[in-house]
Amino acid sequence: MTRKQPGALTLAQAEASTSDITFKDLGLSPPMLASLDAAGYTKPTPIQAQAVPLALKGRDIMGLAQTGTGKTAAFTIPIIERLMGGPARTRALILTPTRELCQQVEESFRKYGTGTGLHVVSVYGGVGYDVQTTALRGGVDVIVATPGRLIDHLEKQNVVFDELEVLVLDEADRMLDMGFAPQINRIVAQIHPYRQTLLFSATMPPEVEALARKYLRKPVVVQVGRRSAAATTVRHYVYPVPKHRKAELLTHLLQATKPEDSILVFTRTKHGADKVVRHLEEQGYSADALHADKTQAQREQALARFKAGQTRLLVATDIAQRGLDISGISHVVNYDVPQQAEDYVHRIGRTGRAAKEGDAFTFMCADEIGMVRTIERVIGQEIPRISVAGYDFGT
Ligand code: AMP
Repeated sequence: MTRKQPGALTLAQAEASTSDITFKDLGLSPPMLASLDAAGYTKPTPIQAQAVPLALKGRDIMGLAQTGTGKTAAFTIPIIERLMGGPARTRALILTPTRELCQQVEESFRKYGTGTGLHVVSVYGGVGYDVQTTALRGGVDVIVATPGRLIDHLEKQNVVFDELEVLVLDEADRMLDMGFAPQINRIVAQIHPYRQTLLFSATMPPEVEALARKYLRKPVVVQVGRRSAAATTVRHYVYPVPKHRKAELLTHLLQATKPEDSILVFTRTKHGADKVVRHLEEQGYSADALHADKTQAQREQALARFKAGQTRLLVATDIAQRGLDISGISHVVNYDVPQQAEDYVHRIGRTGRAAKEGDAFTFMCADEIGMVRTIERVIGQEIPRISVAGYDFGT
């Protein structure tokens, strides 16, 4: 189904009709098909089925898709196809909001671009400059960067975008939320207008729409799922609980989980995350905290331990909320109700990924009732309340 949207954006909302499409149908090269096979993917996800052929044709794309939909591969696959065999120079730039997402996108290039010899470097803050400078000056095909650190390298003339062909703005809504608009504008100003631009965003607030109008040329809008729809494979529950009993409720609920479950807990503050980790450790659970006060090495270690199943619990603030590719999470716990309804959707996007099932528990104290109602309006569904004897408001 294709229809015109105001502003001459074409909407290719073809989820139903993409269900039978195979990777072969997308016009991919044999090495790429082999990489996807090696990755264990049997067929493209709806965003891939829609976006890949358009991107291969050189179209600008506005992709409305949250994490967990396969959106990273939706842009890395066509970029690899485009760059394969070409001269080594900086031809693609991916801007992402966080260093974790940078690393994940870089990983995705390695996974799907095995054997292509493409040089991919990721550039983000919180680590030294030297390694990045050497890599950039040595010549790279693809740069995956957070905007702030990339500006530093531009100022030091470590990067030139004269020959850039593809620009990706990944998680554009998140980048704007984080105040990166001035940096994005400065960076894009250095890139000639005859590039291909792909913009991915989980939501389309007016600011993202404005960004798209400014930087995309006749974009095709590719949308997966309803805007702001929460992942469908997730079972949502709200637990009414007095604020001071949230920690106890968490350990109470953990008793019903399986040893192999991996659980991501979100708190509002860094201090809150540390407190929850201390409580969990006191109760005999292995847990790590992931937040902005941790060093890059600590963050990487916490993520690696969690991914490897060495820690069952990762307690994170919102830095971990979007983009992180931690698959197989069985539970997301909103220890604190997110401040923005859209954030609920992103947090929940951590579980039920790639059609796996998951549980999302939200702890709601009295002053969070209004926020939960707002979330329910945004996701268009009521979340069942579960009252645990001894823990709910009345106790
Ligand atoms: P993303 O939305 O890009 O964060 O991807 C979510 C997860 O889906 C990642 O773990 C990918 O490795 C995985 N994935 C991407 N494409 C496919 C596919 N076609 N089939 C199965 N899994 C996929």
